Amino acid sequence: MEQFDVIVVGAGLGGASCGALLAQGGKRVLLLEQNPNAGGKGMTLQRNGYTYAAWVVVSAPAVDSMHERLLRRLGLTERVQLVSMGASDSLYQSSQGAFRLMPRGDGSSLDPTVLLDWLEVPAEQRMAVMGTIMSLLSLTPAQIDALEGMSFAQWLAPQALPPAVHAFLVSLMCDLMYMVPVDTLCAAEAIHGLQSMFQRGGGLFCVGGFGAMAEALCQKVRECGGEVRMGCKVEQLIVEAGRVVGVRTEQGDFRGSAVVSNVGIQPTALKLLAEEPLAAPLREKVRQLKPSIGMMGTRYFLREPLVDVPYGVIFSAESPWTQARFEAACAGRESKRGVIFFEAPSVYDPAAAPDGRQVLLTGYWCPADPNLDEAELAQWREAHEAVMWAAYPRLESLIDDREFYTARDVSRLTRDTVMTGQGGECIGLGQTVGQCGSGKPSIDSGIPGLYFVGCDAGGRGVGTQQAVASGMAVAEHLMDYPCRIPV
Ligand SMILES: Cc1cc2nc3c(=O)[nH]c(=O)nc-3n(C[C@H](O)[C@H](O)[C@H](O)COP(=O)(O)OP(=O)(O)OC[C@H]3O[C@@H](n4cnc5c(N)ncnc54)[C@H](O)[C@@H]3O)c2cc1C
Repeated sequence: MEQFDVIVVGAGLGGASCGALLAQGGKRVLLLEQNPNAGGKGMTLQRNGYTYAAWVVVSAPAVDSMHERLLRRLGLTERVQLVSMGASDSLYQSSQGAFRLMPRGDGSSLDPTVLLDWLEVPAEQRMAVMGTIMSLLSLTPAQIDALEGMSFAQWLAPQALPPAVHAFLVSLMCDLMYMVPVDTLCAAEAIHGLQSMFQRGGGLFCVGGFGAMAEALCQKVRECGGEVRMGCKVEQLIVEAGRVVGVRTEQGDFRGSAVVSNVGIQPTALKLLAEEPLAAPLREKVRQLKPSIGMMGTRYFLREPLVDVPYGVIFSAESPWTQARFEAACAGRESKRGVIFFEAPSVYDPAAAPDGRQVLLTGYWCPADPNLDEAELAQWREAHEAVMWAAYPRLESLIDDREFYTARDVSRLTRDTVMTGQGGECIGLGQTVGQCGSGKPSIDSGIPGLYFVGCDAGGRGVGTQQAVASGMAVAEHLMDYPCRIPV
């Protein structure tokens, strides 16, 4: 049987980045992906002349991103085109119901004065708000790391920000970047991300969607002598003499000196190693970990363009999520309305829609549970569609066709359900207090031969950037790995 140096399970942005770098570094790589296409949660879909991310995927920071660093390292900058247009629409809904549009800047950084004018912060509160923003921006990396044990809500509490500014920082920025309630979100992670967004802008996309980038990474593996198998689901990890030595699939067994799992730390431990006595401590550990919240939304196929910006956000002073408000919303005791994200791929990539048309993707919070019933899903959808109709009164009349997506689709396409309420998580593990920085699971599983890559280990930052950062970290770690261990 053929022996590989490294088997990477999953061609999400984490797995594909890692596989490409290892292959370029001379390792004999086998990359296995269950879907027909690469990209995982960043995958691209194509239908009726439209090309679009399966759901809203907007990356940040835009300048000096992990994507750019990776593509440079792999010599793929000509083949994969990253775009950042600067423009976006941020709509703040006042308590009277009016939508106030943030003035458009050049997108390279966020001007605090523009922000304060737009959010109508009274003159007497401006010094204090600026003070908060300045202290957030001036924290050094060491000071940020020291906030690991604190939630972002705890960090914000003494600042006593006006509700609109609080909603801007929490709802517009953190709720969508991290997909966990602010009172569980790790302050260090939040501030690290906010600094990079303020200083290096947001709204990074890839022509053809991030799925196109993942496909290019797979192609790199092939060009460097590796093998990529699509439509190949790994069912089990093979363990011999106390180490992981390969994988079992419907297409047969494959052996490798190291196996890197991109399928999620919980599915790896609780499904791929379900029967292994050796993995009992790991299974115990991963049961305690909390996934991020899920995202659902709609793909609206429009007979004419509605927006001229690649993405936007709609929020209000009531939209920030806390753990208690989310639980109450799930139980039907509180409004299900939170922040809404939208993306229009043909604005940054004109080939993404037939001439004169547009596909608009929306996304908002929902439970990560892939087994929610239709009635409950409809409640989440109706709460947010009502906001879309109000914010964009022309939208309804322009719809030719629509597709809904839910946490069930996210799970079916990217991550197996192995625990109650888990599978449809948006990011991966939640970036909560205790699950970031020194509390983040290690890329080394503790079982010889098995490593984790992707959002669950080895990176930080916003979803796609975190996945790529992890891919780079794991590849670097494994470049010196003693491969070709005799079997
Ligand atoms: C609805 C939604 C909206 C999002 N919006 C944003 C956004 O705006 N900005 C942002 O930065 N991030 C966003 N994200 C998050 C981001 O897309 C992810 O965090 C990131 O892409 C995850 O990459 P990954 O490599 O960790 O894992 P994944 O993308 O989950 O990749 C895992 C791969 O493993 C494969 N796999 C799983 N099991 C097996 C198996 N047994 N055998 C073989 N293959 C297997 C899967 O098919 C998948 O391709 C969003 C995610 C979702 C779901």
